[in-house]
Amino acid sequence: MIKLVCRDYGFDCDFIASGDDVKQVVDAYGHHSTEEHGIEYSKEALMQFIIRKG
Ligand SMILES: [Zn+2]
Repeated sequence: MIKLVCRDYGFDCDFIASGDDVKQVVDAYGHHSTEEHGIEYSKEALMQFIIRKG
């Protein structure tokens, strides 16, 4: 299970993108951060977030 927790990136937010498909999780979180926080992370940056967490 891959997980991107919005709170882990400094937002006061309960959004969590999770799933077994990396691309799907990256897409879901990327969409959320753009829409909700006005921050557009690149897919590469989000992949790095996932990789760094192990
Ligand atoms: Zn958020």
